[in-house]
Amino acid sequence: MSTIAFIGLGNMGGPMAGNLVKAGHAVTAFDLAPASREAAAALGVGIAASAREAVAQAEIVVTMLPAGRHVLSVWADILPAVTPGTLLIDSSTVDVESARKAHALAAEHGCLSLDAPVSGGVGGASGATLTFMVGGSAEAFARGEPVLAKMGRRIVHCGDAGNGQAAKICNNMILGISMIGVCEAFVLAEKLGLSHEALFDVASTSSGQCWSLTTYCPVPGPVPTSPANKDYKPGFASALMLKDLKLSQEAAQASGAATPLGAAAAQLYGLHNAWGEGGTDFSGIIHLLRGQAGKQG
Ligand code: NAD
Repeated sequence: MSTIAFIGLGNMGGPMAGNLVKAGHAVTAFDLAPASREAAAALGVGIAASAREAVAQAEIVVTMLPAGRHVLSVWADILPAVTPGTLLIDSSTVDVESARKAHALAAEHGCLSLDAPVSGGVGGASGATLTFMVGGSAEAFARGEPVLAKMGRRIVHCGDAGNGQAAKICNNMILGISMIGVCEAFVLAEKLGLSHEALFDVASTSSGQCWSLTTYCPVPGPVPTSPANKDYKPGFASALMLKDLKLSQEAAQASGAATPLGAAAAQLYGLHNAWGEGGTDFSGIIHLLRGQAGKQG
């Protein structure tokens, strides 16, 4: 059992902290929002008066915050209050540059650190079935893995500092591009008089096969568990897909990688969000491609 501090108790962080309590860890946490603190307290999480107070006794600190600037500001605030040797784990989705800056801050204070963004969404956070993509030293990974395993099912060490975030944005760039490709194929099929079922039956067993088609099919019917069958309720919200595509574009520009389809996907998800569909599942981008905002089908 470890003494763990948890900062950021939102949709993801709250249930993740709750799973650490369930696993027998002593968890002291903080969030700026009173509602988030109350929801986590109901899961047995101890609540501190500030982030600094939360980390005072911690052997491991986990942060789950909106973006890179929040992570850097919280880490700068808490690091003077943690004992050297403490392991800091950031599970937020942030830009690779901020992730690497956070690792450097931790090292300056004699602490170990991991960037460990997740996939699996709120359902995965509640059910402790998240996938963690982890960047950091072998020593930090060896210490962090048993704790991450209480919040997730698959823990992948992707390499050194920042490589967890790199893996996350590369994966989600594939996902954004492939979802748009699948949606375009269904829209074309509709125009050509080809049924959804017929396209699905062929493409799902042919070279068009991919996760966006066979698990997250953007039209209702062929895959009964996909969000398209539940009025495009997320799932994975279009606003979060846009966030991740923007992060991949920042990284592409900084590193000089050519990602023209990633750039196009970011633009299209920007339009989808501007249409007011940021809160719907990202497969709902099929509405934009049909030119019918918010319509089902
Ligand atoms: P959220 O907005 O629900 O939670 C963020 C929490 O951080 C809020 O409760 C907020 O009050 C708190 N916070 C902000 N600044 C703070 C500070 N300085 N000190 C203490 N608390 C602070 O967001 P979420 O959905 O839980 O997502 C968290 C991260 O996980 C994001 O980076 C997101 O991109 C990533 N993520 C989310 C999902 C998802 O499905 N929601 C999936 C994968 C990854």
